[in-house]
Amino acid sequence: MLNIVLFGPPGAGKGTQAEFLTGTYRLIHLSTGDLLRSETAAGTPLGLEARRFMDRGELVPDSVVIGMIRNKLAANRDARGFIFDGFPRTVAQAVALDELLEGNGTPVSGMFSLEVERQELVKRLLERGKISGRADDRDPSVIENRIAVYGEKTAPLIAYYGRQGKFFGINGMGTIPEIADRLRQAVGSLTEPSGDTPAHPGEPA
Ligand code: AMP
Repeated sequence: MLNIVLFGPPGAGKGTQAEFLTGTYRLIHLSTGDLLRSETAAGTPLGLEARRFMDRGELVPDSVVIGMIRNKLAANRDARGFIFDGFPRTVAQAVALDELLEGNGTPVSGMFSLEVERQELVKRLLERGKISGRADDRDPSVIENRIAVYGEKTAPLIAYYGRQGKFFGINGMGTIPEIADRLRQAVGSLTEPSGDTPAHPGEPA
């Protein structure tokens, strides 16, 4: 099994790159941001509660996102592995993920951190806001807050995974295919020596 944490600040390209990796390795893509947005769109109590945090660029409480991930892992017991996108975002979430995966017998294989300059992040988020309609991608002060929250609460996970020998820094500047290539190489270096061969398109599941 391959369990990948795709990491980086808002606007680093995690969602875009997760889609490439999902296709290459046939993993299940779990984006807590997407899961929360479907809850808000459906108007569920959880979604309405989460929205208050999301619209301000603050993190939704750990218990909420950990609960969502726990449910998804339980619902996909026979998966080949997972790509975690936008999760974990705090040390408490990373500890919870380690515990949940320990229960499955399949730890995090690696954490791949997309490294992008701050100016470029703001540019990408504002561009995305024009088409995505996401409130948190349109307001510059919310974007600033999301980047600040990343620095304060999420960036410490670099050291957390570094201590476990699982941190891989990826240059996230350049074109989408260039970044996808770097990421594929890094993930490939992790899977091949262990004999955990990636799935190829067309291979039966
Ligand atoms: P994203 O789509 O990953 O940029 O997430 C959008 C928003 O959803 C974030 O700004 C947070 O408010 C919330 N969110 C997504 N994932 C998490 C998480 N793992 N922990 C807390 N809040 C999250």
